[in-house]
Amino acid sequence: MDVIREFDPWSDPLCTCPKKYGFNPYTGCPHRCIYCYITSYIPRAFDCRVKKNLIVRVERDLKRVDKRRVISMSNSSDPYPPMEAKLKLTRACLKLFTREGCQVQVITKSNLVARDVDLLSRMRCVVSFTVTTLDRNLSRKLEPRAPAPERRLKAMRKLSSAGVPVSLRLDPIIPGLNDIEIERIVKAAAATDAKHVTSSTFKPRPDSWHRVQRVFPEATAKLAPLYFKHGERRHNSRYLPRELRLELMKQVEKACAAHGLTFASCREGLQELTTGASCDGSHLISRKGPS
Ligand code: SF4
Repeated sequence: MDVIREFDPWSDPLCTCPKKYGFNPYTGCPHRCIYCYITSYIPRAFDCRVKKNLIVRVERDLKRVDKRRVISMSNSSDPYPPMEAKLKLTRACLKLFTREGCQVQVITKSNLVARDVDLLSRMRCVVSFTVTTLDRNLSRKLEPRAPAPERRLKAMRKLSSAGVPVSLRLDPIIPGLNDIEIERIVKAAAATDAKHVTSSTFKPRPDSWHRVQRVFPEATAKLAPLYFKHGERRHNSRYLPRELRLELMKQVEKACAAHGLTFASCREGLQELTTGASCDGSHLISRKGPS
């Protein structure tokens, strides 16, 4: 089975991503974010495991991929789980991508990515860090096994100063939990020299809603009517009412403008908002070939 595949998030018409590939070096993700959507389609989703014959399969897939398209690594797992420190599978894939002149977007919550600064600074790539809160206690509840936010920011700084383009994913925003931090998070990202922010509101599926509800019963009691009475359903996800999503995204847009970053929302369908050259930050990838 192919490991580098067309990126097609549930054929969602609201997805504005450029045509790209999705690639997950690991199956499942150990960070256990309570808002995560992968539990709706990956069995044993929080049990991170190695893909069989990964490197052989990547080498095979690289023979047919269109090198003009970005390989997004990864959308259904973090490419830097703790086991990567020893296994170095993601690192091995980055070496293959460098050899082939591929364009790569790394999406992570892990500071371990900074280990690969030697490769990343020579590649055509962008590294996108998800930071949803600067509050350690809140982070422990939202993303129990992911590295602390300050470690992610430190890694962002390290990569930026080595010339690696970096962007922020402020995603998801959950009203009543992290929306009061929007300005602070964008400011902290700007201080690392990040250039772009991709943001979106929480769009729960039944399983992620129940996890968030278990950890935050009071906040979700207030959110429930917004999602289930006044909001809308798209595919199997619940959306907040449009006006509220627009208000939240406008706050991010304003913070980005104030701190000199470009901004785009992800799968919100809000035409009123400005949008960076790409929604996902892939425009930050150098057009030049590897040095
Ligand atoms: S890092 Fe991403 S894929 Fe991993 S558990 Fe968190 S939201 Fe899910």
